[in-house]
Amino acid sequence: MTKLKCPHCGMIDIIDLLPLSTDLLWETLSEDDLKHRYYCGSCDKYFGATAYTEDGRQVIPYITGLCFYTGDYYKGFAQIGFRRHYPNCCTYKITMCRDDNHEEVLGRRACGDLSRLIDSLYYDLFLDDWQRTYDAEESPNGTYWKLIIFIEDEEKREYSGTQEHPVYWDELLALFQPYFDLTNRSMLYSDNNQIKV
Ligand SMILES: [Zn+2]
Repeated sequence: MTKLKCPHCGMIDIIDLLPLSTDLLWETLSEDDLKHRYYCGSCDKYFGATAYTEDGRQVIPYITGLCFYTGDYYKGFAQIGFRRHYPNCCTYKITMCRDDNHEEVLGRRACGDLSRLIDSLYYDLFLDDWQRTYDAEESPNGTYWKLIIFIEDEEKREYSGTQEHPVYWDELLALFQPYFDLTNRSMLYSDNNQIKV
């Protein structure tokens, strides 16, 4: 279970509005008035609203894939991409590049995990409340990351950063780490990370 914290500031002084609002909702308010689930007392912001597309559809049922990569401009990157084929079936593959040596380390595999990953991203990690960019300035040490959400009939949504990370960064990495574990390689580049051949 992911620990609840504010996706804006990372603090845990959070009020769950749903139990509080239910009586009000019943009497006077429309669901639209209470679209945010949580309120953060530390930064005075709301979060946890349902994600919608530009044309008013709920985002989650229309997600067709996602891609995450993290790397270093000078040393290489690791990437994992999921693509939905049927409602309950997706495929994924892992690609890595180390010192200009580009290779697909885990060929395309089938799994039923995409829905679970999407639910985690939106309901546990509050992806819809993230900034689109974290520290867009040039990164002195060259590290960068990007998460791309592909949505049917809408432009893909990109979340990225250089040195800065979102509040739920560790949880984001934890979502993808089990797949990288299958490759016996680390998702994050480090100098003392010996690549097994
Ligand atoms: Zn906050």
